Amino acid sequence: MGEPNQSGQITRRGLLQTGSAAVTAAAAVAAVSAQETAPVRSPDHHLPNETEPGPKNAVLDAANPDSVWPPETDHGTVPPFKYSFGLSRKRIENGGWTRQVTMRELPISKSIAGVEMRLTAGGVRELHWHVEAEWAYMVYGNARITAVDAQGRSFVGDVSEGDLWLFPKGIPHSIQGLGPDGCRFLLAFDNGGFDEFHTFLITDWLAHTPPEVLGKNFGVPASTFSQVPKKELFIFQAALPEELTAEQAHAASGTGAVPQRFDFKASQMQPTKVTRGGEVKIVDSKIFPVTPISAAIVRLKPGGLRELHWHPNADEWQYYVSGKGRMTVFIAASDARTMDFEAGDVGYIPQSNPHYIENTGDTDLVFLEIFKSPVYEDISLAEWMAHTPKRLVDQHLHVGSAMLEGIPRQEAVIMPL
Ligand code: MN
Ligand code: MN
Repeated sequence: MGEPNQSGQITRRGLLQTGSAAVTAAAAVAAVSAQETAPVRSPDHHLPNETEPGPKNAVLDAANPDSVWPPETDHGTVPPFKYSFGLSRKRIENGGWTRQVTMRELPISKSIAGVEMRLTAGGVRELHWHVEAEWAYMVYGNARITAVDAQGRSFVGDVSEGDLWLFPKGIPHSIQGLGPDGCRFLLAFDNGGFDEFHTFLITDWLAHTPPEVLGKNFGVPASTFSQVPKKELFIFQAALPEELTAEQAHAASGTGAVPQRFDFKASQMQPTKVTRGGEVKIVDSKIFPVTPISAAIVRLKPGGLRELHWHPNADEWQYYVSGKGRMTVFIAASDARTMDFEAGDVGYIPQSNPHYIENTGDTDLVFLEIFKSPVYEDISLAEWMAHTPKRLVDQHLHVGSAMLEGIPRQEAVIMPL
């Protein structure tokens, strides 16, 4: 045993001087080294260190298998890059509802904010505008959209499931659900700090302008404005709109229509790329000139893989439309994290951080990749390797020249099964 010091405690020096203690220390070293070689992971999670006594959120665990049992390639601390619309507060009004995922909910998402909205048949998202540009993807149903540009030219159009629209920053607009059952859509704004509940609403503005000023502005009696709602409408139930061509003709009278359309019929476009593993539609300013926001609409078949890649020009904001998948984001310095995604989830990948998306379900995985850039750009690992001297690549990876020769010379985007 060690010798007590003046305060009665056993000193470390005393321990090291004692023969029996040295034997104990050697045994401890041997135990540590045995532990280092013992398996810490098992395929069926039966090891003592893999048990999970105590609290458990079984529903969340079932939806997040790659968090419960992370791939052994995951490492370190990666800032959270997933949030679910299902966790957002839903604002419910006559005529529909809305909820948002912004930088406030998902702090990493600095460049894009997202909004989900449901409008009934006739339900109106009131006439409004905001500082940011608004990009939209129709998830369900049919809608009538209106806008007026800075030259007073009008846009009135109808959109359906799979179609897009873009309202440039500051341009006033509205959305109304059509028959038979209104619509549901996803909005993306080119600023993570955007707030759908702080937009400029026509009712709210007029309610906060002196009526005599309103009267003077239009050359009518102030009393004309006595029925303007005192509280914003935001979303409200209304009768269905009139026939499209009649509303277009009325709105365009005097100034004409906007020269470049604010809608894009992505539902009718041919995929940019099709493989056995799925397809992708890329919509950017090359084919939709008004947009400062580019997007890829991706469909992966079960087992399909959106290949390893990154985006050199922008962060990626993702919206999962249907199915189930997983994504690993590598943030350098050995740190990587895999998270699981399903319908209604949002994902976010900072600019140039590499990632893949794999369909882990038994139905198609459909998701949107959205970028605050008018032009879509990506760099594929396979394409990079295929166009670098294979001698040099093999000196890094030791995969053999036959494998390197076999890489397709052009980017696959989605891997064939
Ligand atoms: Mn808007
Ligand atoms: Mn990507």
